[in-house]
Amino acid sequence: MPCYRCGARQTDPGKGPSPWKRGVVADEQVLICPDCQSTHDWVADLDRCESCGSTMLLRALGETRCRECSFTKQTLRASGEHADAGLADDVAAALRRRFDG
Ligand SMILES: [Zn+2]
Ligand SMILES: [Zn+2]
Repeated sequence: MPCYRCGARQTDPGKGPSPWKRGVVADEQVLICPDCQSTHDWVADLDRCESCGSTMLLRALGETRCRECSFTKQTLRASGEHADAGLADDVAAALRRRFDG
């Protein structure tokens, strides 16, 4: 996964803890590269827990969970609706092909 700001890719997975930071921005799990950490107020970009305000969030299975207080936010996203519509179109197209063939 590249840096959410500059698109840099994580290199040298080597030893020790990674200098890259994780966070959630607009309900997406993102990585922040060391450069952007030093040049940009990236913490201000992060989503915050609706319960305790922490930015220590984790995306999993379509929900955002707070690592501080375990508050979990279910996210229904507009893009998910589009994906469903696309799926319905695919099914309709498949049915058309079946009946045409
Ligand atoms: Zn970056
Ligand atoms: Zn919290």
